[in-house]
Amino acid sequence: MLKELIDQFYIENQKNRDQTHFYITDAGKCPRAVFFKFKNVPREPMDARLLRVFEHGEHLHRNIFNILYRLRVGVTTEIPIPAQEIISGRADAILCVNNENYVLDIKSMNSMIFRNLKEPKEENVYQIQLYLHYFNIKKGILLYIDKDQQNLKEFIITYDPVLVKGLLEGFYSLKTQIEEGSVPARLAEYPQNWQCTYCQFRDICKLADGENVKWEEFKKKIETLQA
Ligand code: SF4
Repeated sequence: MLKELIDQFYIENQKNRDQTHFYITDAGKCPRAVFFKFKNVPREPMDARLLRVFEHGEHLHRNIFNILYRLRVGVTTEIPIPAQEIISGRADAILCVNNENYVLDIKSMNSMIFRNLKEPKEENVYQIQLYLHYFNIKKGILLYIDKDQQNLKEFIITYDPVLVKGLLEGFYSLKTQIEEGSVPARLAEYPQNWQCTYCQFRDICKLADGENVKWEEFKKKIETLQA
């Protein structure tokens, strides 16, 4: 009874923002899923449990911010990257330790994933590299929190201009595909890739071939099925 009411609350209050520009968190994401977001393709609502997991992650972030302020490490939190044409985003924090500036990005995960984490996740590295680029800071810290046991792990990331160039080229190329109406190919490991498991466009995605398809034709197919 109460469980259903709480679940319903989460489902009804989830926000599916219309996407008109890229977010830093799109780095490393499936280009086809990002394309679908730009085109407002109908998506499956997110599971209430998953929404609670995200909310819990935000609380953990705020706890860390609190500690950082008390540590007096010259911290500024939730800073938007400078405005430019292609991408927007907000770094968790910029702080100064031993006279050196760092961009901080905080991620939380369950104990099992945390235990097995020997190196930073690729998509997290992509995101922090973009923050380093836009803030012109040479070093970053990826701080991982074990949500169940409250353990911490950190990885120091050094700015890699070659990697950033590749990421930005990927965004520009996806921008062209969006403007020209060319639906990107599926991920190579579809449907086993973890992104497919959580993808809100799974049902739509399987209606198209695995390769690039023309958006106008595919859109008609979606509209016919919805009619
Ligand atoms: S199901 Fe997989 S390949 Fe298809 S859009 Fe989603 S993440 Fe991409």
